Amino acid sequence: MDSEISSNQIKRAFSKIKEEMRDLYSRIEHLEQENKILKQTINNPQTNNRKTITKLIGNNLSGKIHLPDCPYAKKIAIQNIEEFDDIKQALRQKYKKCNCISLI
Ligand SMILES: [Zn+2]
Repeated sequence: MDSEISSNQIKRAFSKIKEEMRDLYSRIEHLEQENKILKQTINNPQTNNRKTITKLIGNNLSGKIHLPDCPYAKKIAIQNIEEFDDIKQALRQKYKKCNCISLI
C-alpha cells in the first residue's frame, strides 16, 4: 500500500533527522565551549597580552637587547641578563637593538 510505504519513509526520514540533530547538538556544545574560552580571553585581555608579548633580553654587559630566541641571547650569562617587556623601556635605558630585533 502506498500509505504504508510512505509512513516507513517518514520513519526513516525522522530517524535521519534525529541523527543529524544529535550531530548538530554536539557541534553546538563544541562551539559553546569555544565561545566560553573566547569570552574568557576577551574578559582578560591583560593576562592574554602578557602571554603574547615577546620578552626582550638585555645584556647589561654589551648593552644590547635581543629577542629571546636570538642565538646571542642564549649565550648571555645569567648575571648579565636583564628582561624587558617593552622595547621602548629598554631603549630608554640606553640599550641598543641587536640585528635580531632590527630585522623584524
Ligand atoms: Zn640578538
